[in-house]
Amino acid sequence: MKIGFIGLGNMGGPMAANLVKAQHAVRGFDLVPAAVERLAAEGGTTAPSAAEAVADAELVITMLPAGPHVRQAYTAPGGILDKSSKSALLVDSSTIDVETARAVAAAAAERGFDMIDAPVSGGVGGAAGGTLTFMVGGSEAGFQRALPVLQRMGKTIVHAGPSGSGQAAKICNNMMLAVSMIGVCEGFALAERLGLDWQKLFDIASNSSGQSWAMTTYCPAPGLVPSAPSNRDYQAGFTADMMLKDLKLAQQAAQAAGAATPLGAEAAALFQMLSNAGMGAKDFSAMFRLLRTAPSHS
Ligand code: NAD
Repeated sequence: MKIGFIGLGNMGGPMAANLVKAQHAVRGFDLVPAAVERLAAEGGTTAPSAAEAVADAELVITMLPAGPHVRQAYTAPGGILDKSSKSALLVDSSTIDVETARAVAAAAAERGFDMIDAPVSGGVGGAAGGTLTFMVGGSEAGFQRALPVLQRMGKTIVHAGPSGSGQAAKICNNMMLAVSMIGVCEGFALAERLGLDWQKLFDIASNSSGQSWAMTTYCPAPGLVPSAPSNRDYQAGFTADMMLKDLKLAQQAAQAAGAATPLGAEAAALFQMLSNAGMGAKDFSAMFRLLRTAPSHS
């Protein structure tokens, strides 16, 4: 299949490389020339502009930083909606706000395109290994058409519902993860103050009702889960700033929908503090450092 790929950064680069490996004809564009050159080295074709990357593509994938980049790339004059072939399926895999996802998909539909939102989880490791989880919002026909291509980049692909549902699933999942990570950090920080050995707490809680992915797979207290970033000076992983971005998107969505998410709001405030403390580029489990040294509130 002829695929136009826009945004070849930390995630988009390895995702596009996996499509090349699967024998798709990938034509890529990024504002950063080095990113485009990496695709060429993997066997893809480079384009001098987004317009040329999508010109005769059957499927267009975007993997851009945030909502404004996506809106601009699709709807600006000479952008993706102007330059793509009308039969192309449009797939945005960036993590963006639900409102922008729906607005851009509606603008695409007005021009006769089918567009799906397909954000991912799994990080750069999942992108390189082709094991991402895709959460898809849009038509059933669009989902079915994209499926064989998404399967080359991911392992779990779920059709979450109509347009915007993929982004909704992504921010709900990450808000739950942030809250549970903070809970685990507080538990291990309290254990330390109480003189309770971390290993003992881990052995007990991982087999009790306190069990969570944040603890058993990604434990923020070092020395307990060998593969966790806490054992590598909290080298990301998934950065605190990216978690903060997703928590802000969740708060924006909660306000627009009138949903009560008090712990989501608190999580956003805590990750803002972590970022302000200079740890935004660290893994999000570095929250443990902040809470371990924070003054008591009593
Ligand atoms: P990144 O900053 O490494 O890559 C984004 C790329 O888009 C950059 O190379 C940038 O030059 C390019 N770009 C920006 N505007 C452009 C334009 N108009 N035309 C062409 N290229 C343009 O970011 P990333 O880590 O690859 O993340 C991409 C998206 O995936 C984000 O929305 C992020 O939230 C989401 N995400 C990231 C991770 C992760 O662990 N990195 C995990 C899940 C989801």
